[in-house]
Amino acid sequence: MSTIYDVVIIGGGPAGLTAAIYAARGNLSLLVVEGYFPGGQLMYTTDVENFPGFPEGIMGPDLMMRMRQQAERFGATFLTKDVDKVDFSEVIKKIYVDGEELKAKTVIISTGAKARMLGVEREEEMIGKGVSTCATCDGAFFREKQVGIVGGGDSAMEEAIFLTRFAKEVHVIHRRDSLRASKIMQDKAMANEKITFHWNREVTELQGESKLTGVTMSSTVNESTEHLELDGLFIAIGHVPNTKIVEGLMDFDDLKYIQTTRGTPVTNVEGVFACGDVQDHRYRQAITAAGSGCQAALEAEKYLEHVG
Ligand code: NAP
Repeated sequence: MSTIYDVVIIGGGPAGLTAAIYAARGNLSLLVVEGYFPGGQLMYTTDVENFPGFPEGIMGPDLMMRMRQQAERFGATFLTKDVDKVDFSEVIKKIYVDGEELKAKTVIISTGAKARMLGVEREEEMIGKGVSTCATCDGAFFREKQVGIVGGGDSAMEEAIFLTRFAKEVHVIHRRDSLRASKIMQDKAMANEKITFHWNREVTELQGESKLTGVTMSSTVNESTEHLELDGLFIAIGHVPNTKIVEGLMDFDDLKYIQTTRGTPVTNVEGVFACGDVQDHRYRQAITAAGSGCQAALEAEKYLEHVG
């Protein structure tokens, strides 16, 4: 007879790994299907300075490695593969990975979120050739260069300010004439002499073959277009949750994140819990993801006590 796990955790970022630590310490049998690229978004960051317990800061990948080791120490096992599909129609849930069927009494979904893209031609192809979604990862490659950043939220302002450490000039390209970012971030960005704002503009074309050389900006209020020479373009227009495997199987909120009962990881499917960025568009922090991972494991434990 095939194993029926108490918990299968899908996703190996801070939420999934914290859920794994708690579930493993709670003596539940569990498997973490961590994905081909485990660790989540922190794998693409450098210094994490706001995760409690690390007064000197810690590198994102190191933090994730430590969380994984901690989960392993208590008996969590890992599968470094992607989930193809899931079936939550029966009490025993099924998870399909590479043609293999896994069974679980509870499932914790912690698949996170990924950067939203602009949707312009060759955008994906130009990643690593001047286009990036992570200023902290790639900013240092643009010393004394001209860089653009698309977006008007806190992420865009934070990244624009960060990029001024390296770049000669930072061009913020925003589709409206006012920013969405918090006042304090707006003030900081606007006070920075290295930052130029291009209002009511969208990037509609990327120039350069093996390396970005510039972009076409189109006006969002009239028909005009203009060329901007750039060595780098950072896209900071928000995130989309990784929900493909559960589409149509559970409730989603207006922004297409998994709907959980407010303040809990409880979804509308019995025995299925969601934690981290896949259900949180508001805070999106490693520590809040970890906190909700803990909640998910505790809820799974409570559910198993009742259902057996
Ligand atoms: P966000 O607040 O959703 O902002 C996304 C920005 O991208 C908006 O300005 C939006 O324009 C623009 N945008 C969206 N789709 C676009 C498209 N297709 N083309 C061009 N522009 C597009 O996302 P975020 O900045 O990533 O922030 C997410 C959350 O994390 C927020 O709650 C934020 O406060 C928080 N956060 C906080 C900090 C901090 O406190 N240090 C840092 C980063 C993020 P419109 O304004 O026109 O909609």
